[in-house]
Amino acid sequence: MRQFAARRRLTSKAQRRLALAMKLPHEIELPDDVPRHDPPDPGIDVVRARRETPGCAATLHLNNAGAALMPEAVVDAVIEHLRLEAALGGYEAAMRAEAVLNRAPDAAAALVGAARGEIALVESATRAWDHAFWALPLAAGDRILTGESEYASNFLAFLQAEKRIGIRIHVVPSDESGQISVAELENAIDDRTRLIAITHVPSTGGLVNPAAAIGRVANAAGIPYLLDACQSVGQMPIDVGEIGCDMLSATGRKYLRGPRGTGFLYVARALAEKMEPIGIDMNAADWVARDRYHLKPGAARFQNFEGNIAGRAGLCKAIEYARAWGLDHIQARIRHLAGRLREGLAAVPGATVRDLGVEQCGIVTFTLDGADSFEVADELRRQRIHIGVSLAGHARIDMDARGLPQLLRASVHYYNSDDELDRFLRALDAIDR
Ligand SMILES: *Cc1c(COP(=O)(O)O)cnc(C)c1O
Repeated sequence: MRQFAARRRLTSKAQRRLALAMKLPHEIELPDDVPRHDPPDPGIDVVRARRETPGCAATLHLNNAGAALMPEAVVDAVIEHLRLEAALGGYEAAMRAEAVLNRAPDAAAALVGAARGEIALVESATRAWDHAFWALPLAAGDRILTGESEYASNFLAFLQAEKRIGIRIHVVPSDESGQISVAELENAIDDRTRLIAITHVPSTGGLVNPAAAIGRVANAAGIPYLLDACQSVGQMPIDVGEIGCDMLSATGRKYLRGPRGTGFLYVARALAEKMEPIGIDMNAADWVARDRYHLKPGAARFQNFEGNIAGRAGLCKAIEYARAWGLDHIQARIRHLAGRLREGLAAVPGATVRDLGVEQCGIVTFTLDGADSFEVADELRRQRIHIGVSLAGHARIDMDARGLPQLLRASVHYYNSDDELDRFLRALDAIDR
C-alpha cells in the first residue's frame, strides 16, 4: 500500500525517472507534492515549481545557498549538449549550439541590468571575482575597503595582495544591526583608497548588505566598486545600474539553480577597457604581431576559450527560467518562507537564530544548544533533509567577532513548501542532544 501512496505522489515524469535512478526505497516518505499551507502567490505556482524540479521528489532541500536543485529544463539543456558533443565532437557541437551559447552572456546581462559586452562567462564566482580583482592596477600602499562579513576566498586574495604587492586592507566595522556601516565606510575613504569590495549577501549571516547605499558612496568618491553577488543573484532583483557597482561576480549553482562549475563576471564597459586581466588566452586577446597583442574590448577579455560548454548551456537556461518566474516574485516567496522558518526556529528548544542585518534574505542561520553542527546535518541528511554548516573560516572576521565556531544554515528557495519547513522543524526538534 505504501508503495502505491509513494508512487501516487510522484507526479511528473522527471520525478519518476529520478526516483527510479536513485532506487528510492519505498519506506521513504516522499514529500507531499502539493503544499497545503502556502498562501496564494500570484507569481509563483509552487505546485508547478515543484513538479518541474525532479529533486523535490527525493529530498527536502534547504541547502540552496550551497547548491540549489536544478529544474528539469536546466538538466535537459546540459545533457542535450553533452549528447551533441558525444555525437559530433566538442567543436562541432558548439557550432550547432551557437544560438544558445551566444544567448548565455546576453541572458546574464539582462538578469543584472548590464549591457551586451559587459559579461564574461567563467567557471565560478571566485574565478569571476579574482579575475576582476587581480586586473586592477594596485600598488604598494594602496588601500582596499571591505566589510566584516567578507567571504573567505575574497579575503584570501586581499591577504595575498598584501603579501605580494603591499596593499593595505581596511575592514569597515558593521553597524549595530550587523550590516556594514555605510557612514564608517564613507569616513574610511582617503586618497590612497583604490577599491571598495563588499559581499552583498554573506553566506554566514542571513543579511543583505546595503549595496546601493555603498554604490552611492563609491561613485561619489570615484572609487571602483566590486560586489560579490554570489548569494543574491537569482534570489532577488539585481540591477548594476541601481546598485552602482563597477564589477559583480555571480555563480550558477546557488540561487540561480544552474549547473555546478558555472558563473559570470560583470565589468562596466569603461572600466573593463582600462583593465589588464592576468591569465589571458587567445580568446581574451588577439596576438597581432610577434611582440604585440590587443585585448578584446569590454568584458570579453575576461573570458577564456575553454570552458564547460554544456554547463554554459545549462546556465543560460537557468537564467531564462529564473527570469520567467520573475525575480521579484522569487524574492517575495523566499522572504515569506524565510520569515516562517525564523519564527518556527524560535519555538524549537535550544535553537537560536543568528541572522544579522536590517534586511534579511533566504539564508537562515542558527545554532542548536548542545549539538554539534555536523552531527545535526548528518542526522538530517539520513532523513533526506539537506542543510548546510558554515564555519568560522568561511567569514572569519564576522564569525570570530561573534564567537561562533560554526553555524547551521537552512537556506530556502521558492520551490520549498510550508509543509517542508514544518517537517524540517519537527525533525530538528527530535534530534537527540
Ligand atoms: C559561494 C560563495 C562564493 C564562491 O562561489 P564559487 O562559485 O564557489 O566560487 C563567493 N561569495 C559568496 C558570498 C559565496 O557564498
